[in-house]
Amino acid sequence: MMGDLFCKKCGEPWDVGHVYEEMSEAEREILLKGEGCPSCGFGNYCKVCKGAKKLVFRVFKKSEITSEELEEEVDRYVKAFWDEVRWGNFEVTAEFKGDKVYIVKVCQRCNGTGKPMGGDDDEYYGGLVDNDGDLIDVMEVL
Ligand SMILES: [Zn+2]
Ligand SMILES: [Zn+2]
Repeated sequence: MMGDLFCKKCGEPWDVGHVYEEMSEAEREILLKGEGCPSCGFGNYCKVCKGAKKLVFRVFKKSEITSEELEEEVDRYVKAFWDEVRWGNFEVTAEFKGDKVYIVKVCQRCNGTGKPMGGDDDEYYGGLVDNDGDLIDVMEVL
């Protein structure tokens, strides 16, 4: 058990065996350089929302909905996506723009940027580390 390598861009854990046996040489090189992995499109998008940033569920005209009704609508979507909300992956909220109200689900992992922002644990951002949080010497792994 050699532990995992964590993608520097999105924090995805990759089993060391998989990295050296299943990944193509090009993929492995990008991961080891800290430039991303297949989960984040090699550093191109947030792995939680796949770059979607936010999803719009409903659009109302401001004049057509009371604040109580709006609260109920937001509640309904919070319940529908409760697991994602609870785990902090998405926030369901109302956004006001012009004369419209949008009920949206915003990705919290990338703060709605759609870009990879690291993984579940801050300590993994800094480099390629194993399960104990120790920095892996890549030569040693080889
Ligand atoms: Zn990644
Ligand atoms: Zn995202």
